[in-house]
This record gives sequence, structure tokens and C-alpha cells, in this order.
Amino acid sequence: MTINEYQKLAMVTLNPELDKKDVLINGVMGLCGESGEAIDIVKKHLAQGHELDKEKLAKELGDVAWYLAETATAIGYDLDDIFQMNIDKLKKRYPEGFSVEKSVNRNE
Ligand SMILES: [Mg+2]
Repeated sequence: MTINEYQKLAMVTLNPELDKKDVLINGVMGLCGESGEAIDIVKKHLAQGHELDKEKLAKELGDVAWYLAETATAIGYDLDDIFQMNIDKLKKRYPEGFSVEKSVNRNE
């Protein structure tokens, strides 16, 4: 499955009653909410003695992906374009791969 195929399949489950503005708001709120669920799993592992539940964490990452797809859809972007834009930015920032020096002296 390509990332654009994922976006299309995921958006089949988008509430069709939401207007464009609500899709955007739901998308960014969902990104925060699902990221928080992922953080909570790691917090329980690091601070409360729980085993790291990798399967549960992976499922939360999937939920993050869903809301990423929704937010991208709300602004008229394909996920493939967003991923490519990010890789282009990273290649420009770290042409030889990550370095502390390039990170500290970054020109944005
Ligand atoms: Mg979740």
C-alpha cells in the first residue's frame, strides 16, 4: 500500500457530516490526542514500571497516521507530497546526515 492509498482508505471512515473547517480542527486535535496516547504508553514504561507495550504503541501510531491523513486532506495535500516535502527539507538541512553542529547552527 502506498501512503496515498492509505490516505484514501483512511478517509473512507471520515465523518461525511463534517464541513471543511471541522475536518481541519478534528484533524489537528486528533493528532494531539493520539500523540498523547502514545506518550502515555512510554510514560508508563519509563516512570511506572510497566512493560513497554509495543503493539499498543504501534496502534496509537496508526491513529496518529489517521489524523495526519485527515489534516492533510483538510488542506488539500496528498500524504505523499507532505512526506516528500519533509524529506526535501531534511536533505537540505542535513545533506550528509544528522550532525550536532548543523543542528545547533541551523539557518531557517
Ligand atoms: Mg488511539
